[in-house]
Amino acid sequence: MERLQKVIAHAGVASRRKAEELILEGKVTVNGSVAKELGIKVSPSDRIEVNGIPLEREQPVYFLLYKPRGVISSVKDDKGRKVVTDFFEHVEQRIYPVGRLDYDTSGVLLLTNDGEFANLLMHPSSEVDKVYVAKTKGVPAKESLRKLEKGIQLEDGKTAPAKVKLLSIDKKKQTAIVELTIHEGRNRQVRRMLEAIGHPVLKLKRERYGNLTLQGLSAGEKKELTPHEVKQLR
Ligand code: URA
Repeated sequence: MERLQKVIAHAGVASRRKAEELILEGKVTVNGSVAKELGIKVSPSDRIEVNGIPLEREQPVYFLLYKPRGVISSVKDDKGRKVVTDFFEHVEQRIYPVGRLDYDTSGVLLLTNDGEFANLLMHPSSEVDKVYVAKTKGVPAKESLRKLEKGIQLEDGKTAPAKVKLLSIDKKKQTAIVELTIHEGRNRQVRRMLEAIGHPVLKLKRERYGNLTLQGLSAGEKKELTPHEVKQLR
């Protein structure tokens, strides 16, 4: 038995808070009766409707995909390009990516059908660390990397302080490998941060998401998360 608002949130219909509002507004029915209290618990066999629409309840599932480059972080693409859910054709639940990685970025991408879990992780207040490894054009000076550590002004505001490590440099090719740890998830954030210090990204990979790494996986491979791994991210 689970709380009604949690079940609604899991189905991806609304956040838990919004689900509570819908219940209090009398917009939710359980087995045909209006459920106007927040304490109600429901079982998997109960029929729930929100605004008159039956709630489709699926077993929540959680996957980690080692997203290759050249794949769209979406469930469909108008131009017919490969999308991340193409790697999960055997999965019957309607999963979708938690946030996105750019077309040309590879690395850790989570997919789930648990709307509440996805919203939680994508919320700006999420403190989950994301570790990126970027190959940059040119070799950033220490002072430039320091700017990233402090937070740098981008067109959509200043970034939160980042952890930055210069992992290696290739003097001949004039490139560097930089590791950036951030917990925000703005659009093309890492590329824009490095661009802002004058070192455009040539290649980008997300190595870690919270405690989840790519260990044991090759590009295009995936694994189901253990309940413990899911719990650690919440
Ligand atoms: N930052 C980027 O610039 N691109 C990504 O894909 C992820 C983070």
